[in-house]
This record gives sequence, C-alpha cells and structure tokens, in this order.
Amino acid sequence: MWNTRIETVMSEVTCPGCGLSCDDLRLEMDNGQLKSLENGCALARSHYSSAFDTASKGAEIKGKGVSLEAALDYGAELLSSAHNPLFAGLATDVNGMRATLELADRCGASLDHMNGDALFRNIRVMQDSGWFTTTFTEARNRADLIVLGGKQWIDRFPRLIERILHPAESLFSPPDDRQFVLLGPWDAAALPDELQRLSPQVIPMQLEQLSDTASLLRGLIAGRPVNARSLGNSVGSQLEELAGQLKAARYSVVSWSAAELDFPHAELTIQNLVDLVKDLNRTTRSAALPLAGTLADTTSNQVCTWQLGYPLRTGLQRGYPEHDPILNRYQDLLKRQEADLLLWLSSLSPQAHPPATDAPTIVLGHPGMAFDNAPDLYIPTGIPGVDHPGHWYRGDSVCPLPLGQLRESALPAVSQVMTALNDKLQHFAGL
Ligand code: SF4
Repeated sequence: MWNTRIETVMSEVTCPGCGLSCDDLRLEMDNGQLKSLENGCALARSHYSSAFDTASKGAEIKGKGVSLEAALDYGAELLSSAHNPLFAGLATDVNGMRATLELADRCGASLDHMNGDALFRNIRVMQDSGWFTTTFTEARNRADLIVLGGKQWIDRFPRLIERILHPAESLFSPPDDRQFVLLGPWDAAALPDELQRLSPQVIPMQLEQLSDTASLLRGLIAGRPVNARSLGNSVGSQLEELAGQLKAARYSVVSWSAAELDFPHAELTIQNLVDLVKDLNRTTRSAALPLAGTLADTTSNQVCTWQLGYPLRTGLQRGYPEHDPILNRYQDLLKRQEADLLLWLSSLSPQAHPPATDAPTIVLGHPGMAFDNAPDLYIPTGIPGVDHPGHWYRGDSVCPLPLGQLRESALPAVSQVMTALNDKLQHFAGL
C-alpha cells in the first residue's frame, strides 16, 4: 500500500537506488529538504541527494524555458510528424511505463531500455531454454552455498551482503554456516572488509573464463573425464573441490550481474551458469539469482511483457507487437537511422542522458539533468518515490514495491506527461 501522507519522518521507505530495493530506509525531512537518511548505502545517499539538491525548473524547447502546456503542444507536434519513433531509456515506475506503452501504441514506437544490453543477456537465455531462478527472500533464507560470478556486484548492489548473503538472521540456513565462492577478477589478499569477514573461497579468473568454468563444473558434476586443470593447476584443483561442494549443498545459489558481463556473446556465459544450475537440480536443489533492476529495467520490462505479451525491444509500427531483441536494440536503430524521433525517458537519474543523434529528441527526465547539447524538448518530471508515489519491481522480478512520496512537488509524473501527450495526439487525429 502507498503511504499517501507526507510526513517529516518516513520509515520503511523503499529505495530505488538499485535493484535490491531495500525497504528499510528511514528519512527525515525538514521543510522539503532531506535532513537525515538511515540504513541507506552510499548509492542511496547519492540517489536522494541528487533528488533533493535539485532546484525546481520548467520545460525547455531547445534550451529555452517554456510553459508546460507549450512543451506538451510541441511534443505532440514532434510525435505526430514522426513515422518511426523510438521510445528508449524507459527508467520510470509502473504507472509511467503503462502510460508510455499507451502512447507507444498510438505512435507506432519501438521500445528499449537504457540497460537493454544487460537485460537481454539474461532474457535471451530465458527465451532460448528457460531457467531456474530464485528470489532474494529464498536466497536469504535457504542458501547454504552461494557462488558469485564477477566482481562488480559489490558496488552495483551495495547491501547485498547485509540483506541477502549474510543477513542478521535467516529462517532455514544459518548465515554463519554458509559457504561463499567468488569467481572473477578478485585479488584474495585485497578483498573489501565486509567480504573478507565472510571468509569466501576465491577462485581468481577473468570474466571471459566464467563460461569455461561453468562448463568444467558441469562436466565434473556429471562425472565426465574433463580436464579441470585446463584453466591452470590451482584453478583446476579449486574447481574439483567446488564441484564436490555444489553436489553436497542442500540449496546452492549461483549469482551474477549481467551488466558486468559486457563482452561479446556473454549470454553464452549466462547460458552455461543457468545450465549448471539445471544439472544440479537432478540430485539436489540449486537456483540462479541474476542481479538486475537498476534504473527500473526490471520494472519497464515487466510492464511491457504483461501489456504487450512480449518483453522490451518490441516495435509497434505495424499496429501489433513485433519483438526482436537484436533488430530493436536502441543504439542500432539510431545508428541505422531507422528511428526518426527519440523519446528518452529517465526519471530516476540525472546522469542517464540520451545518446547523441541527429533525430529530433524529446527528453522526459529527472529535474537535475543538465545538457551539453539541449534536446529539442525537455520536460522535467517528478522522481518516483520522491515527488510522487508509485510502484517498481525489485530486481528478482517477483515483487512490486510501493514508492512513497517524500515532498510536495509541482513536477508532473511521467504517467501524467505521457497521458497528456496521448490526449493531444488523439485531439490532432480528430478522435
Ligand atoms: S543497496 Fe540499493 S536499494 Fe539498498 S539502499 Fe543501497 S542503493 Fe538503495
């Protein structure tokens, strides 16, 4: 439920700073300014600081201030003259995305998220062969062995250790009895303190070796004559040991952040990790835990999937959804000049700017955005969870969480701007 009352002290606030969506923040406001923040990490502080440090500003056409009404008229004019508009960025809440899809349907737009590359490394694996995933809650309560691929998760999801990996308490699996294995470019002698305290087993490797590692583990678990030492003697012996640990675990979890796996064909690495989990489920319980959700990538994809029947990277030009995860990549649509208008949506971050393009550009964005090259139209929008209430999806996709309102604001929500543009286009069309 939304807490619709704006109070001086707000507790159990959901943080949209990353996909973990910690819902235990306590914020104290004073005259519409943030006075203190408890439980949030550095990323959360940065998220709320950028929101509260922003001076209120109005819409701009080519960098010049205009009224909201004039901005909406101009936006509707640009949209009505576009033949193949591209709606990208898509960092918004559930209501914002619902209204975006209505407008996209009217305009025949293509849709992609700013994190689309990372998002589709995971989605393509799920589309090709299915996967067996778990939730944050299940991992927190049941995991007895956690294997983490990559290294950036500790910065991208700063409270993962405290909230999921090693919480203060857990229902079925005592956190102190858990085993942790780090696969990635780690230096075992220079682990961050909070990680060092977990006494993890570190198997150092390049990210590109994760795929071979998963394949070797699958071979070892299946009892096939694989040469685990092909990755080096010390890694090989550690993999042999890890294969035994995975077979013996009652509930192992294999986790990664697809955003970090930014190299060609990284979806094959994810495929191998997912297949490792499937193999383990022949004899014991294991589950994958892809870490995602940042800048509402999970949210916009969830809404798109339930509204259109397809995930993002779907086009609506022909009056029905056409999903193609390769052809509808937003960077390529712009590069091939197949989009004649870009509508960029970024209500959660002032840093997530639209890509450079010759196509006319509309930005519905965080009020703190500053541009080197002003877009054709910029409409500052309210920040979900600060300027207006809403919902967004946690990174494990299972749980929509309420975002409250922390201050009175004149900034319109993305959903309101999208609906107003839709109404104007309907009026232009004489409907
Ligand atoms: S870990 Fe993520 S969701 Fe939790 S407080 Fe930090 S930024 Fe917010």
